[in-house]
Amino acid sequence: MIFPDGLALLRTQALIAGDWCEAESGKQFPVFDPASGELIAQVADMDAADARRAIQAAAKAQVDWAQTPVKERSLLLRRWFDLVMQHQEELAQILTAEQGKPLAEARAEIAYGASYIEWFAEQAKRINGDIIPAPSRHQRISVIKQPVGVVAVITPWNFPNAMLARKLAPALAAGCTLVAKPAAETPLSALALAALAQEAGIPAGVINIVTGSDAAAIGAELTGNPLVRKISFTGSTAVGKLLIQQCAADVKRITLELGGNAPFIVFDDADLDAAVAGAIASKFRNAGQTCVCANRFYVQRDIYTAFSEKLEVAMRALRIGKGAEQGTTIGPLISPAALLKVQQLVDEAISCGAQVAYQSSVNATQGYFYPPTLLTQVPAHAALAETEIFGPVAALIAFDEEAQVIELANRSVYGLAAYVFTRDYARIQRLGEQLQTGMLAINTGLISNEMAPFGGIKQSGWGREGSIYGLDDYLNIKYINENF
Ligand code: ADP
Repeated sequence: MIFPDGLALLRTQALIAGDWCEAESGKQFPVFDPASGELIAQVADMDAADARRAIQAAAKAQVDWAQTPVKERSLLLRRWFDLVMQHQEELAQILTAEQGKPLAEARAEIAYGASYIEWFAEQAKRINGDIIPAPSRHQRISVIKQPVGVVAVITPWNFPNAMLARKLAPALAAGCTLVAKPAAETPLSALALAALAQEAGIPAGVINIVTGSDAAAIGAELTGNPLVRKISFTGSTAVGKLLIQQCAADVKRITLELGGNAPFIVFDDADLDAAVAGAIASKFRNAGQTCVCANRFYVQRDIYTAFSEKLEVAMRALRIGKGAEQGTTIGPLISPAALLKVQQLVDEAISCGAQVAYQSSVNATQGYFYPPTLLTQVPAHAALAETEIFGPVAALIAFDEEAQVIELANRSVYGLAAYVFTRDYARIQRLGEQLQTGMLAINTGLISNEMAPFGGIKQSGWGREGSIYGLDDYLNIKYINENF
């Protein structure tokens, strides 16, 4: 066990109806530290029957939770937020152990995830209805908003705390109960977060966590069970498409936050230092394993060399190593398969003409480390310009004209985020209108916060998380035709 002693939040059992429990089958699955490949925990390996029990617990808790006054729900969420922040360090240690990211980033993730709990604790009190003018005399149209019911939540391994918090908080604020299935690579962060929800006083059955290695079996139960009225998923586009099909059977609502392929566009009038700082933040956070990561750098030709050189200098300052070690800025990738995929994409780019302008070295003999790599002269049709790289590889492509780069940027089936660096106000307006993404960052590499609507268009997904819009996905609108 690589955990420091006294981690009170470490749980390896699933949470169903307020009880910490093993799988009915008694099976467990292993969780590894990606920085060493070492086994760090054995966790309850639940199957479809266990998931069914969790759904039933959520359905049972639903009636009372929906009727709990919003002020009370809000207070419980607020208490949960306070506890998360009080335990930020411990949660960060658990996160780094199973996910690999540097501790500083893990702490930031805990605070980011908590910010959604805080925000929706406040928003819970503002689920207002409407009174609308009616077409006839003696008639009133009233609109009320009600929780959709039991929600199933499926989350990925790249932000094992925040992706869950970002879904749990609005769902609970809206009056939904839920069953969450965290990624098998990183179940411990989800369990620790749920332990704090329990401590905050959120009633038994409102949050159920089903851990398991057979995602397809659990997913089939979550999508197939009619007690579940909505799925909220963050993960790959391939699995998202499958879930849409599975949800068709009983027309379940579904929110999807899927893959991205963010263009990062640097115009020749940009502040290059700001663009480089943005590139480092956007590309190398979480070792390049974020869905909003800069995936394709389009750099205007006359500043291409200057930008590339400055980016290389900044990349040389990155420190690759174990996330738990002080000073590390790049941790490992999540798995050997992830490592292989990045390697193959880089090899393919080189085979079609890309140059390796810089590649750091990796000293580790264990763990799934990929060195930060700068590729220049990347052809626009290289596979890594069309596929989510999910690794610390910056691929630079030159462009000449604004219209050309808009066309290149929009040439993707994805439409999650885009980044633009320019000081031209009119151009900002034009790109704001024309780039086909759900989110656009101007002169910054950071895009997400709890007050803004996070989400994509095209094959990047449906729905929004965070902000005043983030509650809508968990609410049904009911219109009441009142005649008097
Ligand atoms: P990634 O490639 O980032 O791991 P996935 O889409 O495979 O993305 O995983 C995201 C989440 O979806 C994880 O919790 C994973 O266990 C889950 N998942 C994977 N396959 C399925 C499936 N067939 N049904 C339901 N959930 C699934």
